[in-house]
Amino acid sequence: MKTHKTRLIKIGKDIVIGGKEVQIMAGPCTVENYKYTKRSAHACKQAGAKILRGGAYKLRTIPGTFNGLGEKGLKILRKIADEEKMAVVTEVIDVRDIDLVSKYANILQVGERNMQNTVLLEALGKTKIPILLKRGQSAQISELLYAAEYIARKGNKNIILCERGIRTFEKDTRATLALASVPLIKEMCDYPVIVDPSHSTGKPSLIAAMSKAAIAAGADGLIIEVHPEPKKALCDGFQALVPGEFAKLMRELKPVAKAVGRKL
Ligand code: PEP
Ligand code: MN
Repeated sequence: MKTHKTRLIKIGKDIVIGGKEVQIMAGPCTVENYKYTKRSAHACKQAGAKILRGGAYKLRTIPGTFNGLGEKGLKILRKIADEEKMAVVTEVIDVRDIDLVSKYANILQVGERNMQNTVLLEALGKTKIPILLKRGQSAQISELLYAAEYIARKGNKNIILCERGIRTFEKDTRATLALASVPLIKEMCDYPVIVDPSHSTGKPSLIAAMSKAAIAAGADGLIIEVHPEPKKALCDGFQALVPGEFAKLMRELKPVAKAVGRKL
């Protein structure tokens, strides 16, 4: 089947997702404080990432665990991103937060848990802000594309899809990275596709191999968790790369991108 020409999603003035350049989104899982977020962001930028990730609103599986700093976290994220000249991607979990989060973010992330929250999707469709739509861990590819259509039908076609792994019988990895979705989605629609090697593996030791494979498979970007002190992280520290590992990965990805006609 023919592959669609990828739609270009402009982020701010000088970042494009879906073009020749593979875009890297990196940073902590969650904004915990200024210090850790700054150390992560600075290291990610130095290594070549242009987009800072970090959650201020977190949907947690276990009640009572840290669920983000809310607007305080958004302010920290924006301040640091401006200092480092980066764009911001952060999750929105509730329709009522869309206006607020949009004041601080360049890309609004819909997490895997909300992929089929059609009320949220339609509300995001009424905005113009780019949306990073993550595949639900139990969602089929066609269901991910229907979710994107919920957004697009309301007028917002600035959509980036994200393969972040699905739930299977396998338990030695956090999820199962379904990499065939990358070239398949490109046969089915024109939205850029990025890959999350952090949540799909849950293991820092697997992130480099899966990142290289993702770029070889045609991914338009990666979203990777990086934390300066993973053992002290309040969320997902077990899967975070430390800054040195991330910098090494970025160096290793360059020749892979070049080999498939991309730039990094
Ligand atoms: C995240 O990116 O921090 C996250 C919670 O991802 P997902 O929704 O894919 O689990
Ligand atoms: Mn996380």
